[in-house]
Amino acid sequence: MRVKENLRLTAADCQDTVIHLILEPVEGQLVSFTPGQYVRLGLPGLTEPAPGYFAIASAPNTPDCFEFFVKNAGSLSAYLCDIEIGALLDVEGPMGKGFDLTPFRGDDVYLIGVGTGIAPLRSTWLDIIAHREDYGKVAIYAGFLTEMHQLLTEELADLAAHHIDVSITLEMGSDNWTGPIGYVQHAIERDAPDGDHAVACLAGMSVMVDACTQTLQNLGFNDSRILLNH
Ligand SMILES: Cc1cc2nc3c(=O)[nH]c(=O)nc-3n(C[C@H](O)[C@H](O)[C@H](O)COP(=O)(O)OP(=O)(O)OC[C@H]3O[C@@H](n4cnc5c(N)ncnc54)[C@H](O)[C@@H]3O)c2cc1C
Repeated sequence: MRVKENLRLTAADCQDTVIHLILEPVEGQLVSFTPGQYVRLGLPGLTEPAPGYFAIASAPNTPDCFEFFVKNAGSLSAYLCDIEIGALLDVEGPMGKGFDLTPFRGDDVYLIGVGTGIAPLRSTWLDIIAHREDYGKVAIYAGFLTEMHQLLTEELADLAAHHIDVSITLEMGSDNWTGPIGYVQHAIERDAPDGDHAVACLAGMSVMVDACTQTLQNLGFNDSRILLNH
């Protein structure tokens, strides 16, 4: 696929770089995928830096491009963060289970993620918006390190128009920050969703996924209602 856009998502003065990478097919059409699925991105003809996995952040039905949120965390991701428009990348997939919500129609949906873990959740909320009447309450719990590390601030605020609640938790607040400080699992504990008619989709680093799983289990969520995308 070919790089169509590469835009910085984190604030200009943030020490961490996260980009919004948009890839378009060189030829042919992309097929629909399950929200939450990911691909393997590699550099054509090169084995170093080694290919890596990135969750698709865009809507899953009849896509004309794939969008990703890439954090500069090592050799491949550093290359991707600086990649030029028009460059070619090898793309394998989509792969992984994704978040299949079809068995949970009529239920409440909780999308919980931190950092670039918000990417597979975005694919899921864009799909939910296309079928919003199929679900009850929909709530997103997103966690970021600081205000400067926040991603998609405006887009998340606009989700109220689709009756989607958004809770942002920062690990480190500031004088201006009036929202919760700590970890996303603390925000979930505080709001205590009812696990009987709800499903939760988790995405992010494994310590966060483990802590949120424990919190949801304590709230009465059955394991079959706690979904991972891989
Ligand atoms: C299913 C899945 C989905 C994913 N989705 C996303 C996504 O949507 N967005 C995203 O940004 N990432 C995502 N990732 C993570 C991504 O695949 C990469 O792991 C990440 O980009 C780092 O890979 P890299 O090749 O850039 O870094 P690597 O070069 O592999 O480095 C990784 C870490 O090791 C350290 N390191 C590297 N080399 C050395 C060395 N020689 N000595 C000491 N330390 C070293 C780096 O500093 C860094 O902390 C996903 C991973 C999986 C498994």
